Amino acid sequence: MKAEPAHQLRLLDLQETDTERDRLNRLLRALPEEEQLRQCEARLTELRDQLAVTETELRDLDREQRKVERDIDQVRARAERNTQRMESGQISSPRELESLQAEIELLARRQSELEDIALELMERREEADKRRADLDRKVTEAVEERDDAENRRSEAVLRIKDELDSATQRRSRIVKELPEDLLNLYERLREQYAGIGAAALRYGRCEGCKLQLSAAELREMRLAPPEEVTRCENCRRILVRVADSGL
Ligand SMILES: [Zn+2]
Repeated sequence: MKAEPAHQLRLLDLQETDTERDRLNRLLRALPEEEQLRQCEARLTELRDQLAVTETELRDLDREQRKVERDIDQVRARAERNTQRMESGQISSPRELESLQAEIELLARRQSELEDIALELMERREEADKRRADLDRKVTEAVEERDDAENRRSEAVLRIKDELDSATQRRSRIVKELPEDLLNLYERLREQYAGIGAAALRYGRCEGCKLQLSAAELREMRLAPPEEVTRCENCRRILVRVADSGL
């Protein structure tokens, strides 16, 4: 294949632009900001789950507290009734008095037990309240962090898309300047060889595969007419002769 040396050189500009576009597209697919955002969201979900558990616990404790308070009231009322009956002097049967006395003692024990439970519930409630306040604060912080990460991600995407647009515009300008057969060969090689279809020969080395050319290969490159589209013997990419090729 033949192409003007200027077009061959221009092909290197096209390659540079395409390499840049590939890099930007890869970056878009694996943004570090995306990973940070994912981590922030995972943390927020975890905190909200913990908060939900704590709130359920608080509601359960509330219910238990109300129940214990009702029980205490009942026990107290019954004890008072019994005491009044005993003190009224209306009960004369010693057996009945004895059983009433026993019940009053039983109720007193029961009340003391219930009061212990109420105290313990109050302590647990205080702990859970503290935990909830702590989690509330952490959730607020995590929401801020998540929003920040989201902004950083959006900014990064915009910035990269901007750069991609410029590179794409640059590409279409270059493409218009190049002959079709050269372009087709380049595209085909680019597809075949990991995105690099054309490389410069610099200081005797192919910049596509990074290998040094042998003396015989360099000689062939030197002798080839300038308009001949030369290829690297090793990687088969278009190998463009430049000012510092070392020929
Ligand atoms: Zn090569």
